[in-house]
Amino acid sequence: MRARGGKDLYRQAAEVLASRRNAVALTGAGISVESGIPAFRGSQGMWERFDPAEYATIGAFLENPAKVWEMLSEMLDLLVRASPNPAHRGLAEMERMGILRSVITQNVDGLHQSAGSRKVIEYHGNPLELVCIHCWKRYPSLEKIGERIPPRCACGKILKPDIVFFGEPIPWIAQEDSETEARECSVLLVVGTSAQVMPASGIPRIAKEHGAFIIEINPEETSLTEKITDIHLQGRASLAMERLMETLRNGAA
Ligand code: NAD
Ligand code: ZN
Repeated sequence: MRARGGKDLYRQAAEVLASRRNAVALTGAGISVESGIPAFRGSQGMWERFDPAEYATIGAFLENPAKVWEMLSEMLDLLVRASPNPAHRGLAEMERMGILRSVITQNVDGLHQSAGSRKVIEYHGNPLELVCIHCWKRYPSLEKIGERIPPRCACGKILKPDIVFFGEPIPWIAQEDSETEARECSVLLVVGTSAQVMPASGIPRIAKEHGAFIIEINPEETSLTEKITDIHLQGRASLAMERLMETLRNGAA
């Protein structure tokens, strides 16, 4: 079944969630747009000045860390000031209701944890820690904020935020855990991701192959919509999640 548009989609989605439970959410940059953090695609805000293709690769970082750190310090500044929106809070509530078992996020903004989600798999790492590219010593980011950029380790080498740059592998525990969640879930809720960035984009396919029902929340159609989405709730994450949660609270099942 694939359904789009129309009033009843929220009721249908809520009924699937309430009856199957055992749901997992996969989130991308779109869920945090309404918290003031721009996605790469759609070129708004800081990404008009910092092209991710130029700034977000590990090659660029190693070649010119000072240049990439200019973008990173602006990004960290944005992240520490951002707060969760109703979409993050809705997922945390769904976990408390016993419907959602985990969130797999491609984001590095920590907003799911701030909203109260307990089981969060950070697919692309977390910038709250910095790691030395030479001796692997770790530092809390806050300790180094305000220092000269690029920040340096006691050993003298450059520190890198503990996030996955383009060209770097996904931390294997996050990869393993996400694949397990994708295989074992009964419903996958895909929120605010274009599903274009590999290998995270493989998660919906794994879930589908193992029998999961796919609900997508996105104002746009994505490469998943036609192929594997069962219900597309077309809209911004905060509004769509608020409406879905209201339907769930009012007892969809
Ligand atoms: P992406 O490929 O996941 O695309 C963003 C998606 O969000 C698009 O499909 C778009 O239609 C959708 N979207 C836009 N506004 C939305 C809204 N209000 N509600 C719901 N959906 C909305 O993300 P990207 O920006 O191309 O980033 C690629 C990688 O970089 C991903 O891993 C991403 O998570 C990461 N990134 C993270 C952050 C963050 O941590 N907040 C910000 C930028 C990029
Ligand atoms: Zn070091």
